[in-house]
Amino acid sequence: MAFGWIDEQAELRRRAGLVRTLRPRAADAPLLDLASNDYLGLARHPEVAEGAARAARTWGGGATGSRLVTGTTELHTELERELADFCGFEAALVLSSGYAANLAAVTALAPHGSLIVSDAGNHASLIDGCRLARGRTQVVAHTDPDAVRKALSGHDAAAVAVSDTVFSVDGDAAPLAALARACREHGAGLVLDDAHGLGVLGDGGRGAPHAAGLAGAEDVVVTLTLSKSFGSQGGAVLGPARVVEHLVNTARTFIFDTGLAPAAAGAALSALRLLRREPGRAARAGAVARALHHRLTAAGLEAVRPDAAVVSVRAPSPEQAVRWAADCRAAGLSVGCFRPPSVPDGISRLRLTARADLSGAEIERAVQVIGDTRP
Ligand code: PMP
Repeated sequence: MAFGWIDEQAELRRRAGLVRTLRPRAADAPLLDLASNDYLGLARHPEVAEGAARAARTWGGGATGSRLVTGTTELHTELERELADFCGFEAALVLSSGYAANLAAVTALAPHGSLIVSDAGNHASLIDGCRLARGRTQVVAHTDPDAVRKALSGHDAAAVAVSDTVFSVDGDAAPLAALARACREHGAGLVLDDAHGLGVLGDGGRGAPHAAGLAGAEDVVVTLTLSKSFGSQGGAVLGPARVVEHLVNTARTFIFDTGLAPAAAGAALSALRLLRREPGRAARAGAVARALHHRLTAAGLEAVRPDAAVVSVRAPSPEQAVRWAADCRAAGLSVGCFRPPSVPDGISRLRLTARADLSGAEIERAVQVIGDTRP
């Protein structure tokens, strides 16, 4: 039978307790949300929703074509200008997702004969970028600039190091300044995925590279998602104008993909302008994460100290992690549950995300529920 092997895999998943299912979210969900990536609480902000609606009314439901044909509206170029300016880079290129942005950046900057040095904890989209690129990939120890330096030494052709700025599973940060130094010693480029740093770290949420003094550097390229702090959808690559021009001409996930939907561009632009007007939201998301960590630890739970808005809590086993998350849900709290194969280290955990608009009472309630339902 065609696809018969799928049933064997499904059975193995069932036996291992690793089956994933989709749970539709109701528009008026009464759950307390510590699972989404809506770090600044902007996804449902009236200004952001209105930005999406206005863009759809002006430009329509879709971009109508790839960016190089009909899919670049004035709204796209406005968003690119303002993103580059906000984060401190010369130019920006908007793509249909952060995933596409990572595939674009890594494949376009790692030609045949080049070396890619990739952190062992990188996001799946960076890993897939490495798999698609023509260069050779060397995976190095997590957050270890000396391992990057060692991998780069002795390689004479083009080279690039790639890393998340804030790792999506445990919320720990990469040592950006040391990574940049290691790359510079060897004339290598540095690609940083700031999906979890934008809107949370740096002056007013300008991101982790800005905080590390790397904004505008000629050897640094940053990828972003518009789907987390900016409460919308889409991705971007920021860097020197010549790098962006190179991507426009060579990056397949840019060239052969339909442009970002105008509604998503409009929502992201509204979120960006709102954050400029209310920069305190960024610091608040970080403060909420630290408060969550502090209270969880005080309750005797094993939580990783957060560097941005993600707080990771260790669970004893995949089965117990699943049950813990389900029990939280039954008690009115939505939390993320990460387990193998999403986590290569085999450690299952609850993944909590701080939001700038969480109140002190909501933090207390969340900690109470997590503590009461612990395995
Ligand atoms: N990079 C990281 C670190 C992420 O966590 C994500 C989203 N899970 C992405 C890239 C992909 O972004 P998008 O959802 O916009 O495709």
